[in-house]
Amino acid sequence: MSRIFLALLLCGSACTALPPTWRRPDSCLELLRAPAEPRPSAPSPTRNVILVTIDGARWQELFVGSDPELARANDLAPREARVALPNIWRHLIEGGVAIGAPGHGAAMYASGPEFSSLPGYQELLSGRPASECLSNRCPQIAIPTLLDRVRDALALPPAAVAAISSWERMERATSVDNHRVVVSAGRRHGVTREALRVNECASSILDFEGGPAPGHVDYRADRYTARLALEYLRARRPRVLFVGLGDTDEYGHAGDYPWYLDAYGQLDLFIGELFRTLDRMGAYGAATTVVLTTDHGWAEDFSGHGGEEPASARVWLLAAGGSVPRSGRVAAAREYHLADVTPTLLTLLGVPAAAGDRAPIVELLPREAR
Ligand SMILES: [Zn+2]
Repeated sequence: MSRIFLALLLCGSACTALPPTWRRPDSCLELLRAPAEPRPSAPSPTRNVILVTIDGARWQELFVGSDPELARANDLAPREARVALPNIWRHLIEGGVAIGAPGHGAAMYASGPEFSSLPGYQELLSGRPASECLSNRCPQIAIPTLLDRVRDALALPPAAVAAISSWERMERATSVDNHRVVVSAGRRHGVTREALRVNECASSILDFEGGPAPGHVDYRADRYTARLALEYLRARRPRVLFVGLGDTDEYGHAGDYPWYLDAYGQLDLFIGELFRTLDRMGAYGAATTVVLTTDHGWAEDFSGHGGEEPASARVWLLAAGGSVPRSGRVAAAREYHLADVTPTLLTLLGVPAAAGDRAPIVELLPREAR
């Protein structure tokens, strides 16, 4: 699967190994051949934000490495995090700010009380604890989200704020009115998904007839979600791009530790390709902050997550690019929550605070703005 993912990301002749639907059309290769734009000599103040989430991805594999017991039980050689996730470490941890690393101050948490996906995403994107959303079945978010607020405050067209996710239910967290943003959630959900037909490559993903593996119902595997997000990024240069990946959680629930690690590795390949893409996008890339976080953790023994598993409240956050300083793993000034992310990103983007907004995560702000 890693090989297929890499092929989709980098493509070229490797595409012949993919099912016919997935052969990259020439228009995609043209984008890769496009000359890189001159890169500014220093990062610029944040003008754009790319928020990436990876569902149910534990801090242990991110900051330490594979779990010795689970690795042994699956005949896997132990791997250090820095070796297993080189792009994430290089670009986001050492090249930016990491909050929630063990031994580095207060941890970071989902507010709960239910530590599952839709409550986590509604908290993350609204900037408020999702005290009303207690399961993955809760209704459309009623509080304006990061995407809503940036679009309104900066008077942007819908194409400038986009959400692309593997899980179809994500659309209940992206906006109070998904007609006013660009959303593709799962293989078929998202009322504005047609706006993602930015080229033949993107269209072939939107038209894909395959099944939901490794998820269920209308799930779209991360490798396709990631490719679609990169095509949209290059073609539309959005001010806010939310990318919701989820294969880690699917394999976690299946009790499949080797494939869970593989999905973490796929995320790492995507992060590498994302930074390579931004590097070629000149002033746009230099003014873009990339944030990576997760919606919930797991019980200590990796058996499940939710309100009855307090350890599954623990999350983490990485950020780099634009105004974000290069501080590495920091000891956070206070205990942060998922609800602190949206006010932080609004501050970085220069969107005025509203009544009831929480204080931003100061470690992500440039020193002169703290
Ligand atoms: Zn889950």
